[in-house]
Amino acid sequence: MREPKPQEDLQAIIDDIYLELTPRLGEGKVADYIPQLARVDARHFGMAIVTTGGEVYCVGDAEMPFSIQSISKVFTLTLALGKHGENIWNRVGREPSGSAFNSIVQLEHEGGKPRNPFINAGAIRISDLILAGHTPKELIGEIVRFVRYLADDENIVIDHEVARSETATGYRNIALANFMRSFGRLDHPVEHVLGVYFHHCALAMTCSQLAKAGLFLAAGGTNPLTGHSVVSRQRARRINALMLTCGHYDGSGDFAYRVGLPGKSGVGGGIMAVAPGKASIAVWSPGLNDYGNSLLGSLALEMLAARTGWSVFGP
Ligand code: GLU
Repeated sequence: MREPKPQEDLQAIIDDIYLELTPRLGEGKVADYIPQLARVDARHFGMAIVTTGGEVYCVGDAEMPFSIQSISKVFTLTLALGKHGENIWNRVGREPSGSAFNSIVQLEHEGGKPRNPFINAGAIRISDLILAGHTPKELIGEIVRFVRYLADDENIVIDHEVARSETATGYRNIALANFMRSFGRLDHPVEHVLGVYFHHCALAMTCSQLAKAGLFLAAGGTNPLTGHSVVSRQRARRINALMLTCGHYDGSGDFAYRVGLPGKSGVGGGIMAVAPGKASIAVWSPGLNDYGNSLLGSLALEMLAARTGWSVFGP
């Protein structure tokens, strides 16, 4: 890797990263638990950066929609904080899990209270919390509208085929939800809660839409492109803190060490990352590493952080 040159032009930096990674496209293992994800070509690669000043930089398949999966958990957490404030922390923890995204062991040890909102159990509990006063259909509509508002893009939709497949094969998530319900930790019927969870995971977005949707987190809670105030400055910082500590499941420490920026990954191969005060970044490469995080996506962000000097840990 070249020495970082913080002043270098961002387009040149991502063009270069793409070029360097091209021989490696296809590395990693594409998620194969549902056919819609299994048949995605592992050689796709896209990256988009949106700066707080409003400049957009894209490379590769940055305009191709993909299944954002667990990245959607950042948006549902934001909604939950908006509806219930800090009370959500009575229902879900905010500590890194150190275990796999769909682990059930820890849940038993801790009386059915999920460790954090980004592991599956925690995100299912968040879906349950924001269901209060809604039908699942209304809430799914609200989530889609919220994400469209964040990205300022009316074209964002749910891939219903993905949602159906998730529902048909979601044995582990069904188990997690029933397990929490058995501890009295879900307020709504399991089918309703999972209906919401599977649908928000099935949102399809492009890297550029995702980078725009995450921009409020890089800019103190307000999207500088639209002027939309989404959350307070403190809340944006706190969501970033959770992404840094919990955003990559049991690979969160490794991501923080290598990249040094808050980020949230999804099993579809996407990662949304935030360089506070600078930019929001989305990368997509479907091949995953052993933790279920995008292999080349993590590497691309590591290269970007090194070359721009962006880090939350120091200049
Ligand atoms: N829908 C996936 C699941 O619940 C999301 C997992 C992920 O993106 O890591 O298994």
